[in-house]
Amino acid sequence: MITALPALETERSEIQRKIGQLGDMRSGSITTTGGRCGTPGCHCRKDGDPGHGPFHRLTRKIGGKTVTETFATPVALRKAQQEVAEFHRFRELSQNLVEVNERICRARPVEDTLTLQEKKRRKRSGRKSNGK
Ligand SMILES: [Zn+2]
Repeated sequence: MITALPALETERSEIQRKIGQLGDMRSGSITTTGGRCGTPGCHCRKDGDPGHGPFHRLTRKIGGKTVTETFATPVALRKAQQEVAEFHRFRELSQNLVEVNERICRARPVEDTLTLQEKKRRKRSGRKSNGK
């Protein structure tokens, strides 16, 4: 694992660059259904029948409710698949971004940022700071 600050900062700007290059994105996941249904006498029950579908739909949660969207054309489906894939890339990158930032925070030396007034106050209170 990289722990040197300059290397971590390089890694961070690389992740930020990738996030900046992301295209259209949307949350949700696309599921595929199809095959045989439960309707007696349906053509899909016959041997050699390819069954139904495949049907693709996008589901996502909005305010706790699952919303489903279907696609009129294969082109619309492909567009949505790319948008969802882009969102997953974003999720992954933003997680990496948080992780590298946490490592940067640990690697960054503590600078004396206290103002004079704050230092006076600390002296007066006489409390010892707890290092970690
Ligand atoms: Zn059927």
